[in-house]
Amino acid sequence: MNPESHTRRTTKIEWSETVWNPVVGCEKITSGCKNCYAESMHRRHLGNPKQPKYIKPFSEVVTWPDELLTPFQWKDKRKVFVCSMSDLFNKDVPIDFIQEVFKVMNNTPHQYQILTKRSRRMMELAPSLNWTPNIWAGVSVEDHKNAIRINHLRLIPASVRFISFEPLIGDVGAVNLKNIHWAIIGGESGHAKKSLRPMKKDWVTSLRDQCAEQGVAMFFKQWGHADFNPDSDDPTIPSKGHTKDDGGKYSKGGYHIDGIVYREYPDAPNHYPDQELRDELYALEEKISQSVKGFTDSWITIGESLSIIKDRIEKLGSGKLYWQTYLGVDSFQDYCRTRLQLSRETATQMRQAFLLMQTLKPELLDEGREIVPSWTKLRTLSPYQEKLVQNPEKYAEVVEHAFDETPRSDFEREVRQKFQKKRPKSRAKKQAIPEYEDALNAGDWDRYLGLVKRDLYPNIIPPNDEVLDTIIEQLRSLLLAKES
Ligand code: SF4
Repeated sequence: MNPESHTRRTTKIEWSETVWNPVVGCEKITSGCKNCYAESMHRRHLGNPKQPKYIKPFSEVVTWPDELLTPFQWKDKRKVFVCSMSDLFNKDVPIDFIQEVFKVMNNTPHQYQILTKRSRRMMELAPSLNWTPNIWAGVSVEDHKNAIRINHLRLIPASVRFISFEPLIGDVGAVNLKNIHWAIIGGESGHAKKSLRPMKKDWVTSLRDQCAEQGVAMFFKQWGHADFNPDSDDPTIPSKGHTKDDGGKYSKGGYHIDGIVYREYPDAPNHYPDQELRDELYALEEKISQSVKGFTDSWITIGESLSIIKDRIEKLGSGKLYWQTYLGVDSFQDYCRTRLQLSRETATQMRQAFLLMQTLKPELLDEGREIVPSWTKLRTLSPYQEKLVQNPEKYAEVVEHAFDETPRSDFEREVRQKFQKKRPKSRAKKQAIPEYEDALNAGDWDRYLGLVKRDLYPNIIPPNDEVLDTIIEQLRSLLLAKES
């Protein structure tokens, strides 16, 4: 669990940094909606010609395709609360539009938090959406009656699944937090005190203890109103006339529980490009260009750099997002082709040569790199990497020759003989048997020897015509002598 580390903030929502609203408008479905924050914000802007998104009544759900461009325009990476002015999984938001929203999230490096009360629809649509690791899924649970939403949430393939117990208006009771990563707890706020429903300390401490027992990160947001805070001396209660506390947050009614601040975040894979990684990748690219110039050991060195680049990016997760974020390409293949002008085949062979060396002769990749034999010899081994690993003895036999003076052609032949599968007898050969019989029966030795020569020569590596001709000639003399 991580303490909060982000400081930039353009929303009053404590656990996020920015809001993104490609959908505006909603309708109330449960008691948690009674004092809806989105509705009151909407009311403030309603009819304002400078705020065209709020021209229609809140009860009308409107999708805003132009908003889909906004995350691409943010230069810095952000933690984004998606649809703070609606519910993305509202029945009136078409699946096509939800998929468009997901495509934007899939292709930008920000961390997105989606919170819904329509957990069933989210669960039903989940298989048709691409849950890249930068998308967190959450459900609101305001009381025991709505805890069923947690079961729906558990089935969402998101990297982080979270529950917002806000506004907590009833005891949730015993709750199963299996496969849940984060819980936010908060009392109702933002309205005249008489309309607010108080949050009881027992409900809060019960959830706090269950989070601790079940290893779930917990973020306690606020008591909602100073009068609901059981500790009137809580120093985080904003003083009269102030809306911010000294931590720069906007908590309502303070956020201590028995004098302790609970503001944990879940462990989540880092989807943000960090400068250190970028620098490492650029250094490796530089190494590749240097090696291309030097050429001598370029095959291995480039293969090494390519392998590190591939590993680093793939460790972050799969998919286009990371290749685009770090290197502005769609895939490793695309990277080799567009940035390095290497064909897929060449890049693969380079990596194979490096991986082979790494597996089989690790010491050569460090100090002894200069004794690596010419890459042309090593390339011969590349297609047999798997077999070499499975047959260390065979490997030991051939590899020594890779480091001595054995000519490349001999070395290649040895490798082929040891590792190539024996070819099944060719059809042509089987069909040839009657031809031999015919020649023998007819006593036509020239025809017979012609057949022997035809079939024998191509199977001798390398064909040594002179020696074979001598053998054939001797055989011919023997046959003719036998006949006479
Ligand atoms: S689901 Fe959310 S946005 Fe919609 S009415 Fe309820 S509280 Fe408001």
